Amino acid sequence: MSSKTILFIANWKMNGSPSNFVEVAKVADFLDKKLKEYKKYIVFCPPISLLGYFSKKNRSKKVAFGAQDISNTKIDFGAETGSLSASLVKLSGAQYLIVGHSERRVTGDNFLVIKEKLLSASKSKLKIIFCIGETLEEKKKNKSLTILKKQILNSLPKKINLNNVTFAYEPIWSIGTGLVPTNQYLEKIFSFLETLLKSQFKIKSPKIIYGGSVNSANIKNLRNIGACSGYLIGGASLKAKNFIEIIKNYYN
Ligand code: PEP
Repeated sequence: MSSKTILFIANWKMNGSPSNFVEVAKVADFLDKKLKEYKKYIVFCPPISLLGYFSKKNRSKKVAFGAQDISNTKIDFGAETGSLSASLVKLSGAQYLIVGHSERRVTGDNFLVIKEKLLSASKSKLKIIFCIGETLEEKKKNKSLTILKKQILNSLPKKINLNNVTFAYEPIWSIGTGLVPTNQYLEKIFSFLETLLKSQFKIKSPKIIYGGSVNSANIKNLRNIGACSGYLIGGASLKAKNFIEIIKNYYN
């Protein structure tokens, strides 16, 4: 198994209640007892309503927290009812931030909005998980690479600290569907993204992760993608048992 640091990011989407901290605690406990020797980062992204509560309860500090989104506001604090700035999520305990998830893009996050979110996340020194991915229709028309390039070139500012950005390749057709791309397809996509990020953005070692229907069975296959630095996991991250099984099967 490679010695690089592997990220396992739990995206709880619009799920969870305060009592679900028990799932976080179980994962932290497992990491403490079983997987000390591996370089890994575990990040939980619960709904924003739980973030402050969870991060206060996280005494062991074995896991980190992230937010699932922010507003595209230009200010940190002020008269913007309902807005959520990067500074606010940071104060609630987020070290990470998901930007550009396809479930936000469908509600109106266009290239410019995403760019504005990336800028303010970077200004607040949040570690960014920048999601990109094509639809099934685009894949069928052989447009995947063009779409991914567009999503990156139109939103990723060159002047931010790009070392703080992890790129999450999440084919939209794979999210929540049980469908997972073949390793051959993923190798092609990852190699394309690596080349693009190195040549156009001068990122020495781009961090690229995969997201879309990851589970404890398919991780044994997905772990073979050489350029993959981790996984963004939705449904299978809600229960500690399933999430732990994924981490275990990655390493065993
Ligand atoms: C996601 O929402 O980012 C995701 C990958 O979801 P799922 O694992 O449920 O497909």
